[in-house]
Amino acid sequence: MPIHEYVPLEPPGCALCCYGIERLERLADAPLTHCSACGAPLRRVLGAPAVTTGGAHLLREGHLARHGFTQYRKVSKGRYEKTTGEGPETIGGD
Ligand SMILES: [Zn+2]
Repeated sequence: MPIHEYVPLEPPGCALCCYGIERLERLADAPLTHCSACGAPLRRVLGAPAVTTGGAHLLREGHLARHGFTQYRKVSKGRYEKTTGEGPETIGGD
């Protein structure tokens, strides 16, 4: 399953989407169209996620948590694992 990265159509976006949102997607999944936090329109970045500013990728999760966001990564159908922030470690599942 490829990991797709989305960035705001019109930067800078919010604390959630400003560095891009990585999402594990299956071919059947509909693409993200808007940021779940700020509603900004998103565009998908083609190709492997690239770190364009040194350390931004590594700082992202701490950055989100400081701003009170909780981020979940979809790991399978209906199941999400927390990547940062407050809340349960997983959502959904069998
Ligand atoms: Zn946003």
